[in-house]
Amino acid sequence: SDHALAYPPAPAALDCAALYPASAGTGRTPEFADIGCGFGGLLIALAPLFPDTLMLGESASSNAAANRRTALSIVTSWPRAVAEPPKGVPPAASCFNESRNAHPDTPPGMEIRVQVSQYVQDRIAALRATTPAPPDASPDTPAPYQNVAIVRANAMKFLPNYFPKASLSALFFLFPDPHFKARKHKARIITPTLLAEYAYVLRAGGIVYTITDVRDLHEWMAAHLEAFPLFEPVSEEQLRAEGKGPILDAVYSSTEEGKKVERNKGDKWLACFRRIEASRD
Ligand code: SAM
Repeated sequence: SDHALAYPPAPAALDCAALYPASAGTGRTPEFADIGCGFGGLLIALAPLFPDTLMLGESASSNAAANRRTALSIVTSWPRAVAEPPKGVPPAASCFNESRNAHPDTPPGMEIRVQVSQYVQDRIAALRATTPAPPDASPDTPAPYQNVAIVRANAMKFLPNYFPKASLSALFFLFPDPHFKARKHKARIITPTLLAEYAYVLRAGGIVYTITDVRDLHEWMAAHLEAFPLFEPVSEEQLRAEGKGPILDAVYSSTEEGKKVERNKGDKWLACFRRIEASRD
């Protein structure tokens, strides 16, 4: 379960240099976040299209057959958080401190499922190691796939721990779990409470991209986003006119779930929203 996951106590404690070594020392933080990124298809597709944009995927695998081991790679990314918590931030959860010193095979209370996020980490590491830089790349452009990373996290609980206020320009919810039964709707990734968090991490003008093959879920997500005062609907046509066509193409068909829907000749329902400026921002 996710209660044993370790989280950065605040975005300043997220060690971006460890996630994006080529951007170490630049102070840059992720701009694109793929929530429930699954096997990472969107990130992998977008990485070469936006080589100067840092992207982060979050995945909380619910695969019951997943391996049980600690997310050591993530925990060891944050030693600074333990040594030096940012001002005004409450002490980190005890599992964070304990797990920092844990042996990967004997985690104290940290039996978590990491199969999918581990797969994506390995996939990114392999792409970084094997992809040559394009011949026309400028010397300032980071090497291929240096701009993409993944963390294992429950985005429904700790999103603002990862992203500073108004830091994201794109937030993706692609083929999220539908949670069909009414009593399970509270587990959906779009709810009024969570929308407040999404509005917090998105900058004015930033876009929320949602897509699903479940019409009921599409209507649910669109209705909640429409009702939220800090988001306004934006059409696919408008986004394409603004040059976001390559992003939309990836939203439709780069993810593993999107490809599966295509194979099964299912429908895809897209709904996009723009974060609007609020007077108090
Ligand atoms: N977006 C991917 C795609 O299109 O292929 C994956 C879609 S899959 C149906 C939903 C994903 O969301 C799963 O990988 C699941 O583990 C992840 N997920 C579900 N709840 C989550 C949460 N609270 N935080 C992070 N990821 C979550």
